[in-house]
Amino acid sequence: MIKEQVDVRKDALVLSRELVEMPRPLELLSESEIEKKHCISRVMTYVLKHLTSQFASNGFEWLLPVILSQSTDPLWPDQCASIEKRVELEIYGKTVRATASMIIHKLVACSIISPKLFSLSPNVRIEKSERGTSGVHAYEFTQLDFEVRNASSRDIRSFVEGVICRLIENLKEDMGEELLYLGRYDDLRKPRIPFELYDKAELEKEYGVQWEKRMLCEIDYPVWVTNLPREFYDFEDFQSGKWDNYDLLLPQYGEVLSGGKREFEFGKIGKKMERDNVRKENYSLLLRLAEEGRLKPSAGAGIGIERLVSWITGAKHIGETQLFPKIPGIVYDL
Ligand code: ATP
Ligand code: ASP
Ligand code: MG
Repeated sequence: MIKEQVDVRKDALVLSRELVEMPRPLELLSESEIEKKHCISRVMTYVLKHLTSQFASNGFEWLLPVILSQSTDPLWPDQCASIEKRVELEIYGKTVRATASMIIHKLVACSIISPKLFSLSPNVRIEKSERGTSGVHAYEFTQLDFEVRNASSRDIRSFVEGVICRLIENLKEDMGEELLYLGRYDDLRKPRIPFELYDKAELEKEYGVQWEKRMLCEIDYPVWVTNLPREFYDFEDFQSGKWDNYDLLLPQYGEVLSGGKREFEFGKIGKKMERDNVRKENYSLLLRLAEEGRLKPSAGAGIGIERLVSWITGAKHIGETQLFPKIPGIVYDL
């Protein structure tokens, strides 16, 4: 059932895009393609510099990312997950996994040491090959992942809204030449705050399973969608069945951020893992901290950097924002 929904939703997104040429590796690019790539790369530098300084100046501590750990994001059950293979290997007699997202590390670090933290974290997700043509999936990408102890969903959403608005405003001031060259100067407009907020259950009632495709064509500015059934770590009200979480959708491009208020109670986390067939033994530390009452309430989110830069630069394929494109189904030398 979940799988059918996945395919309907994402295929719809794929079909709504014109057929896009796959980004090629650097050594095969023509002079003009190199010029464009270089321009996108300068915008990427600006975006990274701007975002990290906004987080740091708002009191967030900057964590370096990790690559191999026993626990990582299960990426399940997410109605849109499409993982072909999990990257796992044995080291020193233990099984470790390539980081799918820093969520578990964020929850632990935020509870124990840094009440406000962020990381630029490489994520490895071996997406199914057919996602190579979605235009928005790479099999390696970077999240600006952040978490705040005792924050509410609303706190996180307003912070993100401020960050995005300041970014657009500053980009237009400082990167005007690049945006003009990319044909994005006029269309990239600072959104009004607060962004609109929709409930996924209501969108589905109104538009059916293809609600996202419909939204992406209709919106001119970023919008929030809340109440998304997702992984065990997002907060679910067992009484109402509602999820206190959110995605941020960008016009034409789709989801650029996912996040939520988090579960921290041992009993609830355990119940959700059992219900969702998530292997508890892969999350023993998190469960132990929760049982000891050391896991703290928090909320946070992760911004897909390449998707954000795709939207800003008008890239037709996310691989255009990567110097070394990691396109599902295609493995280049670098
Ligand atoms: P989608 O449904 O679009 O495949 P997701 O909901 O599975 O994405 P999340 O697990 O919520 O993705 O990841 C957090 C953020 O990381 C997403 O909002 C997106 O910006 C980014 N992201 C996720 N998967 C990819 C990918 N394969 N390539 C590039 N960015 C991604
Ligand atoms: N970064 C996401 C979050 O904070 C987790 C994910 O990658 O799905 O919720
Ligand atoms: Mg998501």
